[in-house]
Amino acid sequence: MPHAQSRGAAAEIAVIGAGVHGASAAFHLARRGLDVVVFEQGRPAGGPTGRSSGICRAYYTQPFLARVAHDSIAFLAGFAEHTGGGDAGFVRTGGLYLHGPDDVADARRTAATLVDLGIDLETLDADEVAGRFPGIDVGDGAGNGPGADGRDGNVAIAVREEQAGYADPYRTTWGFVTAARAHGALVHTDARVVRIAETPGQVELTTADGTTHRARRLLLAAGPWTAPLAAQLGITLPLHAERHVVAVLGPACAASAAGGGTSGSGSARRGAPAPGIPGPDADAGVIIDVAGGDYAAPQPDGGWLLGGLDSTPPVDPDTTPAPVGDAEFAQLAEAALRRRPGRPGEARARAGGWSAFYDVSPDWQPVIGQITDRVWVDAGTSGHGFKLAPVLGDHVAGLLAGEQPAPGLAAFSPSRFTTGDPLTAGFGTARILG
Ligand SMILES: Cc1cc2nc3c(=O)[nH]c(=O)nc-3n(C[C@H](O)[C@H](O)[C@H](O)COP(=O)(O)OP(=O)(O)OC[C@H]3O[C@@H](n4cnc5c(N)ncnc54)[C@H](O)[C@@H]3O)c2cc1C
Repeated sequence: MPHAQSRGAAAEIAVIGAGVHGASAAFHLARRGLDVVVFEQGRPAGGPTGRSSGICRAYYTQPFLARVAHDSIAFLAGFAEHTGGGDAGFVRTGGLYLHGPDDVADARRTAATLVDLGIDLETLDADEVAGRFPGIDVGDGAGNGPGADGRDGNVAIAVREEQAGYADPYRTTWGFVTAARAHGALVHTDARVVRIAETPGQVELTTADGTTHRARRLLLAAGPWTAPLAAQLGITLPLHAERHVVAVLGPACAASAAGGGTSGSGSARRGAPAPGIPGPDADAGVIIDVAGGDYAAPQPDGGWLLGGLDSTPPVDPDTTPAPVGDAEFAQLAEAALRRRPGRPGEARARAGGWSAFYDVSPDWQPVIGQITDRVWVDAGTSGHGFKLAPVLGDHVAGLLAGEQPAPGLAAFSPSRFTTGDPLTAGFGTARILG
C-alpha cells in the first residue's frame, strides 16, 4: 500500500532528524508496521552522528543505560541479522577504563552492579594493569603519573570490558535508514523543518520549501537543534550544545621516517621496555582514561582517535564548529602518548581531526519522553549516545507506539529537571561516562 503521506493523509508518526537516534527509532517504528516519515535537514549522519568516535562500551554508572549499551553492542555486532542487511562496522577491541585513587570505591561498586546484570567486567589494580598491558604507563603510585592539566594521572583501579569496541556511526545510521525504508518508511533528505504546530488531532510540520506535512505523533530527534524545535511548542528543554574535538593520530612508524611526528615518551614504572628493544604492544583496545581526562580509540589502520572527557563552554549550534587547532591536537596527542608511549624509536604523526557538537543535558544523561500530547523527544545524549541508539531506538519506538515502557526508562523523562530528580552520571568531571 502506498505510504499514507503520499496519499495525502497524515502519517502515523513523523521523526525530525536522521542522526543515529532518529534513524534507529524510525527503523523500530517501521518494523512494527507503523507508517513513518522522517525529515532530515541534510543527509543521514550528516550532523554530529557522522563525527562520532563510535566507541561502544557497556561500562555505565546507570544500570538501565548499561543494559541498553550491552544489548546495543550485540545489535551492532550482528547488525545485518537485526536489520535485514548492512554492516555497522563494529570491531571488538576490548575496553580499558583507567581511574585514579578517588574513584576506587565508585568503580568497584559500579562494576559489581553491572556484573550482577550479566555484563562481563573485571576490575584490575594498577599492578595488574601494568602486567597485562605493559605498554600503558600507570604512574608510580606516588603522585608522579603521566597526567597533565594538574591531574597526576596515576591509575589506582581499572575496569576491563572484553566486549567493548567501536563501530562506524555513518554506516550504522545509513543501515537503519535503508532498513526503515525497506519496512515502508519515507525518509526526506534536504528537508529542514522550520515550523511545528500542534492541533488537537495532529501535528503540522512545515519544511523549508514551504510544504506542510501532517502526522498524528512526532518524535524530535534533532540533536543540538532539538531545544529550539521544542520551544516552538512552548516547551523549554534545558539542553545546550558544546564543541568537542577528535584528533586523529596516525599509525606508529619509525621515528626517522616520521618527519615531525610526535614521538612517544613515557616513564612506565612497571613493564617499561628497555631502550632500543621493541616493547610489547599495549593491547588494551579502547582506553577511557578517567584519571587523565581523555580517551583513545584504535582505528583499523593502527591509528587512534583521541578526545577529551570534560565539558566545554556552551556554544550556538547554528555556528560552524571551528577546526581542530594545533594546541588542541598537541594536548590530546601528548596525553595519549604519555599514557601509552609505544615502542622506543616509534613516532606517530598528526593524521587529521575534526570537531562537532554534543547536545548536553544538565545531568549529562539522555532526555527521553513525552513533552506534549502528540510530541516525544529523544535528545540530550551528551556525547555518549552513539552506542545507545540501536536498542534505545526500540524503547523510544515503543513509547510512540503506546506500549508499556520498560522499567527504568521513566527516569530519563524531560520532567526530571522540573521535579528535582536529575540523574547522576559518570565519575567526577567525566560525566560523559554516563
Ligand atoms: C565528536 C563526537 C564524538 C563522539 N564520540 C562518541 C563515542 O565515542 N561513543 C558514543 O557512544 N557517542 C559518541 N558521541 C555522541 C554521539 O555521536 C551522539 O550521542 C549521537 O550521534 C547523537 O545522535 P542523534 O541522532 O541524537 O543526534 P544528531 O547526530 O545531532 O542528529 C540530529 C539530526 O537532526 C537533523 N536536524 C536538526 N534540526 C533539524 C530540522 N529542523 N529539520 C530536519 N532535520 C533536522 C540534523 O541535521 C541531524 O542530522 C560523540 C559525539 C561527537 C560530536
